Amino acid sequence: MDLTALFKIQYGLFVVGVEQEGRLNACVVNTVAQATAEPPQLTLTMQKRNFTTELARKKGSVAISVLGEKTPIELIERLGTQSGRDTDKMEDVPCTRDVAGNPLLVGNGVVAHYSAEITSEVDLGSHYLFVLKPTALEKLDGTPTTYSGYRARKSTGGKQWVCTICHYVYDGATPFEELPDSWVCPVCGEPKSAFVLE
Ligand code: FE
Repeated sequence: MDLTALFKIQYGLFVVGVEQEGRLNACVVNTVAQATAEPPQLTLTMQKRNFTTELARKKGSVAISVLGEKTPIELIERLGTQSGRDTDKMEDVPCTRDVAGNPLLVGNGVVAHYSAEITSEVDLGSHYLFVLKPTALEKLDGTPTTYSGYRARKSTGGKQWVCTICHYVYDGATPFEELPDSWVCPVCGEPKSAFVLE
C-alpha cells in the first residue's frame, strides 16, 4: 500500500473558531469538506488533543473562515502553531462574531464565512469527525487557497513566482526551484527563466 498516493488529494485551508464561556479560540485545519448538497452538510475533522476541539464539543457549534490566496502566511502560522491553552491566539486578530458568538476572521484574504452546528461526531482515534449543519453562509471576495498552494507560498517566504510574460502565478505543490529545467509556463509556454519572485 503506497500511502503517498493519498498526497494526490487536494485540500483547502480554514480557521475554525469557537467562543466558550467568554473565551475565544481558533485553529487552522485543512479538513473542511462539503458532504451533501440537499440539505447542505459539511464535515470537519479535528485532532482530539487540540484545545479548539475541546471547546467545540462543549459548545456544539463552530465558525469557519475559508482562507484565500492573499491570507498572510504569518497569520496562518500564528493560529496554526501555538496552542490556545497557553496563549490568547486571537488577541489582535480582527474578527466578528456569528449568532452563536463564535469568531470569524475579518479581512486577511478570507473568502467565505460559515457558521454551523455540530449535529454528530465520529470517534476516529486521534481525531473526531464532526458533521456540520450550516446556520449561516457568506461568500466574500477572492480565491480560496489550496493547502499545497499555501505550502508553496510558505517555501518562498510568502512571495509567489510570477510569469513576466503572461502573469500566471505558479501554485503547484512542488517548490518552484525543484521544477525541472524543461518545465515551461503552462499558460504561455515561456521557460522557468521568465519567472520572477514577487
Ligand atoms: Fe506565462
